Formats: sequence, C-alpha cells, structure tokens
Amino acid sequence: MKNKQITVALAGNPNSGKTTMFNALTGARQHIGNYPGVTVEKKEGLRNYQGYEINFVDLPGTYSLTAYSIEEIVARNFILDKHPDVVVHVVDSSNLERNLYLATQLIEMGTKLVLAFNMSDVVKQRGCEIDYAKLSKLVHCPIVPTVGNKAKGLDELLEVIVAAADGPALSESGSIIHYGSEIEQELEQIAALVNQEHQLVKKYGTRWLALKLLEQDKEVLDKGHTDEVIQAVAQSVERIGKHFGDEPEIVVADKRYGFISGACEEAVKNSVENRHTASDLADKIILNRVLGLPIFAVLMYAVFKLTFWLGGPPMDWIEIGKVWLAEVVTGFWPAGTESVLQSLIVDGIIGGVGGVIIFLPNIILLFLAIAILEDSGYMARAAFLMDRIMHKIGLHGKSFIPMLIGFGCSIPAMMGTRILENRRSRFTTLMVIPLMSCGARLTIYALIIPAFFAAKWHGLMMWLIYMIGVVLAIMCAKLLRSTLFKGETVPFVMELPPYRVPTLRGILTHMWERSWLYLKKAGTVILIISILLWAATTYPKPNESALTGLDARQVQEAELNYSVAGRIGSAMEPAIRPLGFDRRIGTALIGALAAKEVFVAQMGIVYSIGEADEDSDSLRAKLKENYSPLQGFCIMLFCLISAPCVATVAVCKRETGSWGWAFFQFFGLTALAYVITLAVYQIGSLFVG
Ligand code: GDP
Ligand code: MG
Repeated sequence: MKNKQITVALAGNPNSGKTTMFNALTGARQHIGNYPGVTVEKKEGLRNYQGYEINFVDLPGTYSLTAYSIEEIVARNFILDKHPDVVVHVVDSSNLERNLYLATQLIEMGTKLVLAFNMSDVVKQRGCEIDYAKLSKLVHCPIVPTVGNKAKGLDELLEVIVAAADGPALSESGSIIHYGSEIEQELEQIAALVNQEHQLVKKYGTRWLALKLLEQDKEVLDKGHTDEVIQAVAQSVERIGKHFGDEPEIVVADKRYGFISGACEEAVKNSVENRHTASDLADKIILNRVLGLPIFAVLMYAVFKLTFWLGGPPMDWIEIGKVWLAEVVTGFWPAGTESVLQSLIVDGIIGGVGGVIIFLPNIILLFLAIAILEDSGYMARAAFLMDRIMHKIGLHGKSFIPMLIGFGCSIPAMMGTRILENRRSRFTTLMVIPLMSCGARLTIYALIIPAFFAAKWHGLMMWLIYMIGVVLAIMCAKLLRSTLFKGETVPFVMELPPYRVPTLRGILTHMWERSWLYLKKAGTVILIISILLWAATTYPKPNESALTGLDARQVQEAELNYSVAGRIGSAMEPAIRPLGFDRRIGTALIGALAAKEVFVAQMGIVYSIGEADEDSDSLRAKLKENYSPLQGFCIMLFCLISAPCVATVAVCKRETGSWGWAFFQFFGLTALAYVITLAVYQIGSLFVG
C-alpha cells in the first residue's frame, strides 16, 4: 500500500529548537536547497509514520509574520501559497508569552496548527506548571510538550500531526482574538469591501486580508486592491490613529499580547518567567491574590466618591437653572390666567425632564472615570480579578464590567454586554443588570434614608441596599445559568492589554457616547412619559363644587385622588397593602415605571409639597409622620428590585432582539420584588410592630 503524502511546515522563533526538532523527526533523510528567488536556506526531510509519508519543511525562524524581513515573507508565503497540510509551531515554552505571538498570527492565517511546546524540560526545572489542556482550549489548537535535544514527545507529536491532517479544516474566521469594538468595527467595514475581491478572498480569507490591510502590511497592500478598499483602509487607519493615538499595527499587536498574557495568566501556574516590563511589575501588585481586590475596592470607592463630590456643584447649578426657567415660563402668563399649557410646560416638562437632567453631572463623571479605567487597561484587570468569583456563578469575569456600569445606569450597562461573546453569559448578565442600583434609584434612597434613619446609620443603610441588589443579582444569575441558560461556561481568554496612558480623545469619545444616550433618554422617553404622567395626575378634574371650602393643599390632594393616577393608586391598594404600601405610594410607584427618579417627584405631588426634590426636609418630615422605618425600607427594597424603567425595557428588547425577554425581565423582577418585600414587611412587622 502506498503511503499517504502530507507536507508539514515547521515554524518558530529563532532558537526555539526548531532545527533540533527537524533533525530528530527526519533523521538523515534531508534535502537542503534555497527558497526560490531568495538566499534563504530551505531544508526538507521525510519521515514515515503509520501509513503517512510526511514531508517536513523547516521554515526560517521568525518572531512574527509581518512583511518586514525576508525571512518573515518567505515563511508566510510558504504557508499561504503552498498550503502545507499542517503547520507545527515549535514554541520555546520556557519563554512562552514572547513565543506565542507567532502562534496568534498562525492561527489567524486559518492554517491547521499544532503547537510543540519545546524546552518543556526547562519549564519543569524552573518549577513552572503549564495546564496544556486548558491552554489548548483557549488557543483552539492541540499542544504537545516536547524536549527536542532528548527526542522526547516526538511520537505524540507525530500522532497529533496526522490526526490534524485528517481532521476538518479550520473555519475561515480562525479568529480567536477579539480586537475590541473600535477595531472590529473597522475590520467589518474593510471586510465588506474586500469581500468583492473574489480571487484574493478565495486564497487568503476575508478576515486575514482585512486585518493585514488595517495593519498596513506592505505585501498585502500591493496585491492590486480596488480604490474603494484602499480608501476605506486609509480612513480606518486615520480613525484608529485618532482614537488610540497609535498606528493600528501597534494597537493590534498590543491586543495579541493582551490575549496571550491573559491565556498564560489562566493556564500557567507559578510562572517564574523573567518579567521586566513596568506593565508586568504593575500587574504583580494589581493582580496580586491578596492585594488585588482591596486595591479594586478602594479605586471603586474613589470613583463613586469623586462622582458625587465633583458632581455636586454642577447639580446645584442645574437645579437653579431649572427653577429659573420654571419662573420665567410661569411669568408668561399674568397671575390668575394660569392655563393648561403653562401647567404642562412647568409641572410636566420642566419638572419631569429637569428632574432627570439634574443627574447628568453624576452620569458624565461616572462614565468619565469608567472610560479612564477602561482605556488605561485597568478594567480588564478588574474583570480578571473578579473572574474567579464570577466563574462560581457561571459567568465570565467580563460580565462584571457591564454590571459595574449598571451602578450608573442600566442602559449603557446592557449595551456593554456586547463584549460577552457567549450568548448564555450575555443573556444572563442582561437579565440581572437592573438589580445593580442605578443612579436614578439613588435619588429614592437619598430621600428615604435620612427620613427614617439616624445619621450614623446612613452609610450603612446605603451600603446594605446596594449589597442586597448585588447579592440578588448573583443569586439570580446562578439560577438562570442552571435553568434557562444552562450550559458549560465556555473558557475564553481574558485579554490583559498593556497599561497605556489613555488619549483624551478616546476617553472623551467613550464618555460622550454614553452620556449622550442618557440625554437622549431624557429628551425622548422621559419627555413623553413626563407629559403622560402629568396628564394622568391632572385629569380628569373633579367638579368645582366638590372643592369648595377646601384650602389650597386639600384642593391639590382632592384633584390628585380624582385623577387617573390617583384612581390607579387606589385600585392597587389591596394588592400592595401587604407590602406596607398605601394608595399614595402606589401612585408614586406608577410614576417610577417611567423613570425611577419620578418616584421622588410623585411623592412630592402626593403630599402636596411644592418644591419636591430629594433634599426637601418637609417631604421627609411628612414621610416620617406617615410611615414607619420598616415601611421606608420596604419602599427602597421594592424600588430596587421591581420592574426596570421603560427605557431599560426598550433597550433590553433591542439587545435581546425580542419583546419576550424584555417582558420576562420586567415581570420576573416585579414578581421577585413583590415576594421579597412581602416577606420582609410581614416578618419585620412581627418584630417592630
Ligand atoms: P533553531 O534556531 O530554532 O533551529 O534552534 P536550534 O535547533 O538550533 O536549538 C537551539 C538550542 O536549543 C540548541 O543548543 C539545542 O540543543 C537546544 N534545544 C533544542 N530543544 C531543546 C529542549 O527541548 N530542551 C533544551 N534544554 N534544549 C533544547
Ligand atoms: Mg535553526
């Protein structure tokens, strides 16, 4: 029987033991020549193994596969033009991170790849332990440990080589590295145009071409592209340059290194590799098992503290502006001629939208801080630190980032889940995000806590309510992952990009995108809802005769009770009484559906206090008069857990692509809120009466 012939190329960094391996594999059956047209030595050798005649080709040693040196071009073109059945990358596994850079490029070429982890004796000697199975899963190709100069691991290597040769071809995407939304977006645009260059695509694959074009690879740029493609590439390069302050090539390389160092962090134990760079040194401290989490906690505290501290004055200015605007508008109507339109503009629009815009400074500052943490490379580390904890609830460390953003606002947080490639993880995260207390809920806490609790308990109460949200989110995620979104946690690499000083432009772009979303919500959804709510609390109006003899405050209350909102509140009363809530709270809860912060404004209206905002001591006094601390706590609890605001529901629909999930979240959380609040109120009542 004739042997099946296959060609296997050996690639690797210089001094990785490639030639040693080549000799050990082929023995004396070698043929030395030159690659056509260049003075680079080409060694070929034969080896028979289990019915295969394997033609090994020793490629020139390279650190990378760019078009900068003749060796790199030769090695790359051999793989692209000659299509070897399998490429074996001989890795100096005692210098793993540096060597794997080449592997990321080989993988992206879509070739069938086997990694020979050579020098594994050195690794052992240094007390290092590599989890081959795990690493192999992370980089999507088989790994065989070898010792070239002792000819160890060769049979295993041959076995894996023939298995790979017979195995299925890799999918074209071959992409294991996600380059981040900015770069992926550019890649997508270039790919769309490149796709029309059929000949090239057939030979090289769309993604590889797009990536190389973006990297400004000389060889690939000279392949006779259409003007359209060349122009699109130039624009992409410019945009990336502006955003990152670096050439795409450098940004892409950073991402690859980030991927590798993330993979090694997960799969290599007790690494005593010599790490000299400042970035590595910083990671020693920041990713330290003991110090990591406290550092993270302190940073987060600083972010929240700064957000509210710096945000204070501009919030006051907006408040002043709002009052001024309301006065000016009121002034258009001479006293005694107040009209429906005036009430609509002043009470409905300025009151409602203004109440939301007032949090804009908070939101901008929070997003600014998050953008800095993200662009500097810290956020990826934070996610890495949380990975172990998140894994326990069946989520990836990356889920933590959108959850963190959820403390600001659920909307950008939900959009942030796009960084999660796995659908199950992504949907689980989406579902629990509203349990992270958003900035709007903070206004409710800020109203309630000082009303019922002594000053020394304020901080603790706030912490408690936030923690309840976090713990519930964890429990719900665990539940979802073991029921609706059941399935293995797919291991995928956390990228640890090098630290870099963020560019002003990059930060401002990130910050602006998110703040703009918030403003848009205020200008659209909240504007409409404010008008609707205003109408619901104003109409229908009771008969004039019913109001005679009442003072101004009583008139306002009577009118509210007669209105749609008041009636719904009354109708709800039997259902919410077991939670410790009355008709008035019911009315305010309806308002909170529009936006959580509306609750505060609604309570103000219900208690007929003109200037109702969270600082209003008179409203707090009213609350203290009418409710117990337990009821106050239950209000916070219910507002924390129950139905997310309408804007969030809309975004959930967009991100999940179905109203089904959005409603599931809406009703699921409301039901959960009902049950928990019921339990707390009923059990609590037994103790505090
Ligand atoms: P190349 O430049 O990639 O072809 O690497 P070489 O084949 O010239 O090997 C470089 C050096 O590493 C030689 O001195 C080899 O004897 C040595 N070497 C090769 N493989 C191993 C190995 O697995 N363990 C150890 N300790 N040394 C090795
Ligand atoms: Mg050599």
